[in-house]
Amino acid sequence: MSFRAPVPEYEFLLNNIVGYEQVTESERFAEATNEMVSAILIEAGKLCDEVMAPLQRGGDLEPARLENGVLRTSPGFAGGWKAIAEGGWIGMSAPEEHGGMALPMALTTAVNEMMSGACLSLQLAPLMSQGQIEALAHHASDALKDLYLPKLISGEWAGTMNLTEAQAGSDVGALSSKAEANGDGTYAISGQKIFISWGDNDFCSNVCHLVLARLPDGAPGTKGISLFLVPKYLPNESGEAGEANSLSVVSLEHKMGLHGSPTCVMQYDQAKGWLVGDEHGGLAAMFTMMNNARLGVGGQGIGAGEGAYQQAMAYALERKQGRSESGTIVDHADVRRMLMTMKADLFAARAILMSCAVAIDMQAATGDAEWAARAAFLTPISKAFGTDTGISVADTGVQVHGGMGYIEETGAAQFFRDARVTAIYEGTNGIQAMDLVARKMLDGGDMANRLMDEIEEQAERARVTHPNMAESVWQACESLREATEWLVVQDRMNDRFAGAVPYLRAFARVLGGHFHLAAAMADLGGPREKLARFYITRLLPEHAALLAHAQAGADGAFALTLEELAG
Ligand SMILES: Cc1cc2nc3c(=O)[nH]c(=O)nc-3n(C[C@H](O)[C@H](O)[C@H](O)COP(=O)(O)OP(=O)(O)OC[C@H]3O[C@@H](n4cnc5c(N)ncnc54)[C@H](O)[C@@H]3O)c2cc1C
Repeated sequence: MSFRAPVPEYEFLLNNIVGYEQVTESERFAEATNEMVSAILIEAGKLCDEVMAPLQRGGDLEPARLENGVLRTSPGFAGGWKAIAEGGWIGMSAPEEHGGMALPMALTTAVNEMMSGACLSLQLAPLMSQGQIEALAHHASDALKDLYLPKLISGEWAGTMNLTEAQAGSDVGALSSKAEANGDGTYAISGQKIFISWGDNDFCSNVCHLVLARLPDGAPGTKGISLFLVPKYLPNESGEAGEANSLSVVSLEHKMGLHGSPTCVMQYDQAKGWLVGDEHGGLAAMFTMMNNARLGVGGQGIGAGEGAYQQAMAYALERKQGRSESGTIVDHADVRRMLMTMKADLFAARAILMSCAVAIDMQAATGDAEWAARAAFLTPISKAFGTDTGISVADTGVQVHGGMGYIEETGAAQFFRDARVTAIYEGTNGIQAMDLVARKMLDGGDMANRLMDEIEEQAERARVTHPNMAESVWQACESLREATEWLVVQDRMNDRFAGAVPYLRAFARVLGGHFHLAAAMADLGGPREKLARFYITRLLPEHAALLAHAQAGADGAFALTLEELAG
């Protein structure tokens, strides 16, 4: 099935909805004008449609494999990586002094999402490199930056992220990998990491691992963790990949989806590594990478949803079944409901994602704490709602196909299988929601309230042209405010945590209403206004049930004894 990168969606969002004009008005990003953005999006779209999308099916059918310790990637992936690298897409937002383009994150986020729709398992490779580039740019020594960044940015080398161990998943602080100083400024890293995406490949001359490990005097838990850069091949004197380091890929996981992306068990045996950031300061450095990756993973979900939507739409236009105006299923009311829900939710999730990216750019451009707080607040919402939306849209895509959705040849199921992991990795969506209601509410809900003020201010303005929609958004926002007031005074954290997932989703629902309302105002009488009406009338009301759940506290969730729960 062909894929069409959603370039016009992004142009509309950037030009009308998410405040991108503030980014271009800043000195730092003055060159990233709307015209330039359009040209870049069109170019990226061609890569997605013509190079990456044709690799999607092959990656699923012929997964990466390990042959006598050598990793072989899926057919065509080497060429796909080369095209991504040569196009400069890996280093779009990377520092110019190391060969990047220093473009806004908003643009990188859009391009990453489009690539995810074309071929998610391949797109994960540059995403990992981008996270590593950002972590090194912020925390590594100048020597490490000079040596590694140009090669990571050009795609000659690739980057990975090694946090997870068998006993240390969500609880990263439980890791047992060790690091010892070699006495020459380098460290010896030992331990096993599991689930490492793109832990190796056969198209880069080096693979650079960012590994979390504990030094002998590191405190237990997250406070005692340090971050190390551990390359597959040690750079020689001329900075090229030289002698092999003592690390290996032990095995590859057999997964539900994302087959083209090798998920590796990595073994480190006194492998040589270099400290990134301060000793015991690993988590701060890792968070730089994780926040970047969280936004990227939110986009992955949306991208997979976009691919699923396009395929479902094409199928619905052709499949003849039952009596309808056109003779095809697209004119059945329930099929329309599914397609409209997919489209409306994708718009909402994308707008939230892009407004988070704009906040990140404004934080970079101004150094303003307000933008930083806004970006931090929107990151877990973007990740969780983006991925939940991608999964539900892909699931609905299967349903639109009927039985053919369950048959692998159509590719509808692949979108769902591939997207499913996005709600799990980079911090499960449950962990994202807990982050939102705990760490992101340490200000007593101030950031949440400022966002809600904006939503209500726009709703007030919208009353002139769209009184009913404006009133619905305004009322939903008031309910969200009441729930937020309840939430921030709960001292027993479990009372917040038990309702964290529905609270996050309710927040996303209201933000979605806000952005749809903006779209309606920007497209009077047009299709975006009609889509906004669908969302606000039919999908936004979900917030009420979610908020009731969010404010129910923990006691009910623990009401059954473990025996009763299992019984
Ligand atoms: C395909 C794939 C690729 C991956 N790629 C990478 C990678 O490149 N690098 C890397 O380091 N890791 C990677 N991971 C690992 C991934 O980040 C972890 O799987 C994820 O963080 C969850 O950890 P876990 O699997 O141990 O689940 P667990 O932590 O055991 O969680 C199980 C369940 O319990 C919940 N839970 C856990 N703790 C809490 C808590 N405190 N409060 C409430 N609920 C909780 C979780 O939300 C989840 O629902 C990958 C995983 C997969 C499947």
